[in-house]
Amino acid sequence: MTREQGVTRVVIAGGGTAGWLAAAALTRQLRGQVAVTLVESDEIGTIGVGEATIPTIRAFHALLGLDENAFLRAAKASFKLGIQFEGWAREGDSYIHSFGALGRGTWMAEFHHMWLEAHAQGFGGELSAACAEHEAARAERFATDENGSLNYAYHLDAGLYARALREQAEAQGLVRIEGRIARVERDGASGDIAALVLEDGARVAGDLFLDCTGFRALLIEGEMQAGWEDWSHWLPTNRALAMQTRAVGPAVPYTRAIAHDAGWRWQIPLQHRVGNGLVYASDFLSDDEARHRFLGLVEGEPLIEPRLIRFTTGRRKRVWVNNCIALSLASGFVEPLESTSIHLTMIAITRLLQLFPFNGSTPALARRFDDLAQRELERVRDFVMLHYVLNQRPEPFWQRMREMELPASLTERIAVWREAAHAWQGADDLFRVDSWVQVMLGQRLEPEGHHHVARLMPPERLRQALADMQAATAATVAKLPTHQQYLDRHGGVAA
Ligand SMILES: Cc1cc2nc3c(=O)[nH]c(=O)nc-3n(C[C@H](O)[C@H](O)[C@H](O)COP(=O)(O)OP(=O)(O)OC[C@H]3O[C@@H](n4cnc5c(N)ncnc54)[C@H](O)[C@@H]3O)c2cc1C
Repeated sequence: MTREQGVTRVVIAGGGTAGWLAAAALTRQLRGQVAVTLVESDEIGTIGVGEATIPTIRAFHALLGLDENAFLRAAKASFKLGIQFEGWAREGDSYIHSFGALGRGTWMAEFHHMWLEAHAQGFGGELSAACAEHEAARAERFATDENGSLNYAYHLDAGLYARALREQAEAQGLVRIEGRIARVERDGASGDIAALVLEDGARVAGDLFLDCTGFRALLIEGEMQAGWEDWSHWLPTNRALAMQTRAVGPAVPYTRAIAHDAGWRWQIPLQHRVGNGLVYASDFLSDDEARHRFLGLVEGEPLIEPRLIRFTTGRRKRVWVNNCIALSLASGFVEPLESTSIHLTMIAITRLLQLFPFNGSTPALARRFDDLAQRELERVRDFVMLHYVLNQRPEPFWQRMREMELPASLTERIAVWREAAHAWQGADDLFRVDSWVQVMLGQRLEPEGHHHVARLMPPERLRQALADMQAATAATVAKLPTHQQYLDRHGGVAA
């Protein structure tokens, strides 16, 4: 059944990372089918953070047809093999959640079960010693490498990235309109959005509207009143201070996430500067104290004044209402610990292309889109919460985090891991088994049991198998240049 009016005009409200990602993807993938217009306000500006990514970005860049070297040059990007968590379980602890596979398992049980058996027998070294991404990150080495073996993502300059996406989208026919959206015009009969009306009176009409206005959520909430589900009882951090500094040493190929008494601090090395942020819960740390502490902690000459960003964790109850779809910050936000927001935006855009309402928005399409987005975000929330709840720190903030009531889905995960070292990647899960394992063990949640698959082989064979895997990994990593050398050599990185 087709509706009378199809979608031939897409209007994107907002030109942050989300708006420009959507613009670049739609103009490339639906060329000739839809006309795309983007409205943004330079005066309002963008959130100016969001500079760490996960490996799925490379698949999205392939969809955009974005060449890696051109991207590295344009966004002054560096490479990322994972996140180093410092002080999360206890002060002085450090572990890396890498993007790699921990080792080879069998169909019956994953690698970590074998390692746990070896560990119980008193050998086997470190869990991550057979994981190339982990070992390369620790050695600060990197190459995209002839064998293409490392699974990696990027750190990028958000402003430069948006500019590069804009150039591509405009070259593909996108029309950009500068101006402030003053109000939204609705169709009286259907309730659909008919047009955005700008402060200067200009009217931007369309068939489908993408709300990329960030936390303002001008269309999806301001006009369509989709509703908000608050998650701050589970993730109470609600402020970030962000500041850029000059680098004081070589760029490391991982994000640093350093716990403090009321939250954590990020360090993201780029080619030309370092991005820093202090995330905290305002119930446990005042803005003045946070600023004072932040300025004392950041290394390197500040390039800008610290900027205060307020946020609330949670999600929009519906992200597709009538002919309005919210993307990225307008749709919800789980705090930035695992750098998932840009990924979720890319997945939402990919899904929009797959479910594109060529014949007009329908409730069924909207429900399907909503359902997939909601379940995916819940799983990400659980994974992010895991870092917080498994802590042994003494401060009131951390005490509150480990004593709170958890979502049932997370309680179950923790119980199954604790009893038998089982972790899983469900259909809606972004994070793989090895991610759950690295974080659970990194947060000191030692399982009481594990699968006995490794007892099917003599201890000597298990010892040899682990030693061989670890030696092969060490040999691979030893051949890699340092991350900084690789950056200096590739992508026309200078200036
Ligand atoms: C502290 C913090 C750290 C983060 N770190 C990461 C990270 O490491 N990795 C990651 O993946 N994500 C991260 N994120 C999320 C990431 O920043 C966002 O996903 C990304 O920047 C996309 O933002 P956006 O485009 O939705 O919103 P914004 O960047 O806020 O853009 C909104 C756009 O809407 C426009 N607009 C608003 N109102 C109007 C109006 N009335 N008229 C016209 N235009 C208007 C603005 O001008 C702007 O162009 C972080 C977020 C926060 C808060």
